[in-house]
Amino acid sequence: MPLVLDGVEIAGEIKAEVAVAVQALKERGVVPGLAVILVGSVAASEIYVRSKVKTCGELGIYSEMLTPPKTVTTDELLTMVAALNGRDDIDGILIQLPLPGHVDTKRLLEAVAPEKDVDGFHPVNVGRLQSGQPGLQPCTPAGVMEMLRRRDIPVAGKNAVVIGRSDIVGKPMAMLLLNASATVTICHSKTANLAGVTQQADILVAAIGRPGFVTEDMVKQGAVVIDVGINRVVSEDKVREFFGDDPKRQATFEKRGSVVVGDVHPEAFRASSAYTPVPGGVGALTIAMLMANTVKAAELRRG
Ligand code: NAD
Repeated sequence: MPLVLDGVEIAGEIKAEVAVAVQALKERGVVPGLAVILVGSVAASEIYVRSKVKTCGELGIYSEMLTPPKTVTTDELLTMVAALNGRDDIDGILIQLPLPGHVDTKRLLEAVAPEKDVDGFHPVNVGRLQSGQPGLQPCTPAGVMEMLRRRDIPVAGKNAVVIGRSDIVGKPMAMLLLNASATVTICHSKTANLAGVTQQADILVAAIGRPGFVTEDMVKQGAVVIDVGINRVVSEDKVREFFGDDPKRQATFEKRGSVVVGDVHPEAFRASSAYTPVPGGVGALTIAMLMANTVKAAELRRG
């Protein structure tokens, strides 16, 4: 039976360590602070932000939510970010994405002071990651590395294949694996013979955004499979296609009208030696890593 990499359990370990670090900072008179900018009211973003703010409270991190309306301009947001950059009590600034179409997202992300960029999206932090220097790293891929480290999964010398080349997940994931001495291949929508490449992977990371895209024939026997995808399936037929008659998923579908499915088909995990479930895998780690990044930012900036 493959090992299930339990993201909730690992997130619990990380949060417990963050709480200890927060306490140590408080004893030196420093309360780490996170500011979250949430533009407009996008239901999914509101849920994410609320849970980030709640976790801050649980761990003793000060948090502040700024909620400009969806009509806010890029200039107004830049002024907001500049004010947060200048405040000593704010260590981390997070701009919840996606932003409305009229807002210049790139300009805004570049306006965040690199030392407060807890999402690790600023070009300075991207460059630090690329050159193997310490800096703030994107939460989701950093969470995957923590998971591998904490569960003693070797990375050095392994063939790692990342499907997806986004700036948020795929590219930084590949860079972190490379920095950990894996032999890394990045695949994307134009990759020829994708299955031929993924079949070589000792570590396979799927960050695509397509439900059940990775099938069993694409997975090497004994591979470690990391499923980053979070996809909502709203048709009962699809739920059955992925999960058969699994009573738990059926009950979730009846209650919520949708079920969350990763980028890896549940049957594909059978070939693996270890895998991350969806939900309860990588997704559970992202907020824990955001908290860890906020404390790291406070430690680096305020010593
Ligand atoms: P994205 O849309 O920015 O990137 C998707 C990538 O998949 C692209 O690089 C594209 O080239 C590749 N791709 C698309 N179709 C493909 C195909 N047919 N064959 C090979 N590659 C293909 O998405 P993203 O922001 O990187 O997110 C990917 C998934 O991860 C989504 O499901 C998202 O919801 C999820 N996600 C989860 C977390 C988390 O906390 N667990 C965080 C961020 C994103």
